[in-house]
Order: sequence, then C-alpha cells, then structure tokens
Amino acid sequence: MFELIFHDCHLPSALHNTNQYFRVVPESFDPVVIKEISGLGHEIGYHYEDLSMAARSMGVRNRDARSSPLPGDLLEKGIAQFESNLEKLRELAPVKTICMHGSQLSKWDNRRLWEKYDYRDFGIAGEPYFDVDYSRVLYITDTGRSWNKRDASICDKVNSGFSMAGDVTLIWKKPQ
Ligand SMILES: [Zn+2]
Repeated sequence: MFELIFHDCHLPSALHNTNQYFRVVPESFDPVVIKEISGLGHEIGYHYEDLSMAARSMGVRNRDARSSPLPGDLLEKGIAQFESNLEKLRELAPVKTICMHGSQLSKWDNRRLWEKYDYRDFGIAGEPYFDVDYSRVLYITDTGRSWNKRDASICDKVNSGFSMAGDVTLIWKKPQ
C-alpha cells in the first residue's frame, strides 16, 4: 500500500486517494476547498496545533514547552480547543486521521496532548507520527518552502526507507 501525506499543499488532481491535512488557521482553513477535495473522494485530516495555540493564548513561556508536567491547565485547554476545531472541520468532511503541525519557530510539540489524552477517544483512527511505519512509506515534505529539504523542521522529518532519488515527478504547484 502506498500513501502520500501532504503538508498544507494544493491538491494535485492527477492523484487519487490521498490524505489532505488542514490547519484551522485562516491561510489553510478554506471550507470551499476542503469540501471540494472531500467530494473528490480524498480523505480530509486535521493538521492540529492546539497545544501551541493554547500556550500562546495563555501566555505560557516557550521555555516551559519541555517541562513535565506542563504548567497549569494547559493540556485541558489544549484538548478542549482540539475537540472544538475537530468539530469545525467535521462540519465540512469526515475526519478520521490527524497529523500534528510542527512550526520551525515553535518550541511546542503538539503531540504532548496525547501524554494525557487518547485521540482514539475522539473518533480518530490514526496519527502518522505514531501509527505509520515510515520504513514502508515515501514521505515528501514541502516544509521550509521547498521539497524535501535536508534541514526541514525537525517535526517534519521522518526516517523513511525510501528516498526522493529516482523518477518521482512533482507536478503540482506549491502555495506561497
Ligand atoms: Zn505543518
């Protein structure tokens, strides 16, 4: 089985059965596009960043990002936000998988939500960082505004058994 996971990029219409992950931030959350892609038979996933967003809105310092346990009720705020954003996306399309957003500028690891909570309790079947065997998947990332940059943000790197060498042709246009 072969699956492509895209990061915030526009849909290549020649590809079938892909997973498209959307953030809830305005530049990614486009209801018309999401419905259209879902209507073409592609899966819609949630590209979540609720822990880092909650930390920002609560004014938690970046240097606390690695503390254990996390300060105050940050996890509770983060999961509440996750749940409501997931609902928002599910108003547009069925959502069965999630994949965390890892910004190069952020110290926050959004996966830390799952230290206390279980995404399966939200009807989520998988999170690629936990549930995908990357030794069997070709992973292509557009992080850092180019394809498969070696110094891509750490959260968007995986150890894959495949490489881009060969005749992989990228025919779609990356959004700016
Ligand atoms: Zn991302």
